[in-house]
Amino acid sequence: MITKKNLIFLGAPGAGKGTLAQILCEKEKLAHISTGDILRAEIAKGSELGKKAKHYVTTGGLVPDEIVAEMVASRLTQPDCKPGFALDGFPRTIPQAELLDKALAKIAKKIDAVVYFHAGEELLISRLTARLTCKKCGSNFNRIYSPPAKEGVCDRCGGELYQRPDDSLETAKNRLKLYNEQTAPLIPYYRSKGMLSQLDASMSKDKSYPALLALLK
Ligand code: ADP
Ligand code: ZN
Repeated sequence: MITKKNLIFLGAPGAGKGTLAQILCEKEKLAHISTGDILRAEIAKGSELGKKAKHYVTTGGLVPDEIVAEMVASRLTQPDCKPGFALDGFPRTIPQAELLDKALAKIAKKIDAVVYFHAGEELLISRLTARLTCKKCGSNFNRIYSPPAKEGVCDRCGGELYQRPDDSLETAKNRLKLYNEQTAPLIPYYRSKGMLSQLDASMSKDKSYPALLALLK
């Protein structure tokens, strides 16, 4: 049983936030809010938001704070967030964290825990550049660490797997650099508020999932 249910998953790209968030949210009936997934869906639809975000997402840059914060604020008012939610990939900057606080105050909610997924840079690069993503449901696989049962096909929904263009070596490096500059400052930020729990993200998901549950008790 977990008691902490309004969650932020923090960590570098490739740390496994998305994979564990998906498992946790399915089992615990929480809303999985991945800003990357939402942005990719908007880009695929060709919406106004998608048009604004496209350039940043394909080059591995950060979409402007106000745009993502607005997107998350509106997502948090949906009924499926009532039992709890895992924010995956948001906030990514200190200003986003401040905008999140404002949005939560308006709907009288608060964050119960920030889980920091910790892993070394070399592992992150090797995970990112071997990552395969489902076109349909967004599930992640990995050519080396967790290949799908059938090549090119999603185990979860049967959708087609592809390599995200921003998972190329050069773009992945750029995303890690941006992470170190813009997102890593959130670690001391949440630690000083007493909200941070650290998870060793170098483990495989069958080891890291029970460790995650233990942190959320
Ligand atoms: P990963 O966690 O593997 O880097 P995501 O799917 O979370 O990938 O994000 C993909 C891209 O979407 C990012 O590189 C960025 O361009 C954009 N993005 C996602 N979340 C945010 C955010 N909170 N702020 C700004 N840009 C974001
Ligand atoms: Zn799928």
